[in-house]
Amino acid sequence: MTANGLSTAVSTPGKRSVLISGASIAGPALAYWLHRSGCAVTVVEKAGALRDGGYPIDIRGTAIEVVRRMGILPRLRDAHIDTRRYTFLNADGGEVASLNAHAAAGGGGGQDLEVRRGDLAAALYGKVRDDVEFLFGDSIDTLDQSGPGVDVTFHSGQRRTFDLVVGADGMHSPTREPLFGPEERFHRYLGYCFAIFTVPNTFGLSHELMLWNTPGKAAALYAAGGNAELHAFLTFHQPEPPFTALRNPDAQRDLVATVFAGAGWEVPGMVDAMRDADDLFFDTAGQIRMPHWSSGRVALVGDAAYAPSFLTGQGSSLALVGAYMLANALAAHRDHTAAFAAYERGVREFVALNQALVDNGAATLFPTTARALEQRDTMLRGLVTMPSATARPAHSALALPAFAPLP
Ligand SMILES: Cc1cc2nc3c(=O)[nH]c(=O)nc-3n(C[C@H](O)[C@H](O)[C@H](O)COP(=O)(O)OP(=O)(O)OC[C@H]3O[C@@H](n4cnc5c(N)ncnc54)[C@H](O)[C@@H]3O)c2cc1C
Repeated sequence: MTANGLSTAVSTPGKRSVLISGASIAGPALAYWLHRSGCAVTVVEKAGALRDGGYPIDIRGTAIEVVRRMGILPRLRDAHIDTRRYTFLNADGGEVASLNAHAAAGGGGGQDLEVRRGDLAAALYGKVRDDVEFLFGDSIDTLDQSGPGVDVTFHSGQRRTFDLVVGADGMHSPTREPLFGPEERFHRYLGYCFAIFTVPNTFGLSHELMLWNTPGKAAALYAAGGNAELHAFLTFHQPEPPFTALRNPDAQRDLVATVFAGAGWEVPGMVDAMRDADDLFFDTAGQIRMPHWSSGRVALVGDAAYAPSFLTGQGSSLALVGAYMLANALAAHRDHTAAFAAYERGVREFVALNQALVDNGAATLFPTTARALEQRDTMLRGLVTMPSATARPAHSALALPAFAPLP
């Protein structure tokens, strides 16, 4: 305890203490690399335990090298979902095109991975759980940088001091707001909302995606493997972000039900299932674009700093690469200001290139006008195999430096 009653983690001379807010992808990845460079790491996560679930996510390009260096590549290869078929449906549920995913898929020479978000989070957590302090069911209430470190008050009432704090708490990062300003300032809304939840696999689907489209609306059933459950996905074009619904799950359900009223195929059953789903994940498709990713002794990583949106499929890859680069910069620079500047220099172009991929994803998956949908369908009918949406230079645009030891 210090004289002011704070228990302090800045106790070991030369050993940096870092508090990370958020234990999803960016948080545990950063914890791993910081621990490896000799930091004392604490991770605080609002949820009571590691959060499972979420739609399958991709790990590509430079991010593959990060997970390889962490030693979890074999485990993630085992968890690879291996989607084999994509079937596109029209308004009545009739088939537009059914494409083999294999022949052309696996961009980056077949190295890219698609795994359940929960599997990636569990693999990352498994690498650090014994070396890093995890505080589940708690969160940061206040940060005070007026002293030599960051004085933190937790929601539980605990008070501690850390050398540095990193917000890895997602697109709606609560760490970001008090230091950088309200989310509206950095959020670039892309015109879509989406709802994701799980439904029983009563369709007998296996390793495949069914995607139903009408202009501005899409519904998907995704068999991530041969599971008993499917990922159900309802997305729709909405010119203005529904700010009220974002904070109210009942309003989210009502909004989705209203938008999809009268829709064909399996959509009415999906809307009913969404009403009862206990794992509904509703959000806007948006990006976070900030001029700086740090303020004093506090920095941001992953979606909190540069969410690219699911339309790029690069959220988790940016989180993994960003975490590595931030830890690497901190290992190379004793001075945190220099380290945060090096982190930004090293990652910003990579982020910009990947955030710019957004239009490709939207045009292929969610055309908003009848004409755009017709063009998309004509393009699909001319294909036998799914074009590799993964083999983009942006995914590998950053050559990962060797991990720097402390000077
Ligand atoms: C349960 C879940 C399901 C998801 N499903 C999808 C999906 O289906 N499709 C998709 O595109 N993306 C999804 N995502 C987002 C996706 O994981 C990220 O885009 C990407 O992996 C970047 O990860 P991140 O670690 O930066 O942020 P995130 O994965 O968003 O993780 C942020 C973490 O911070 C925690 N947190 C939030 N507030 C606080 C707080 N005040 N204090 C402490 N911790 C806090 C959250 O609980 C979460 O664990 C999901 C995220 C989660 C947590």
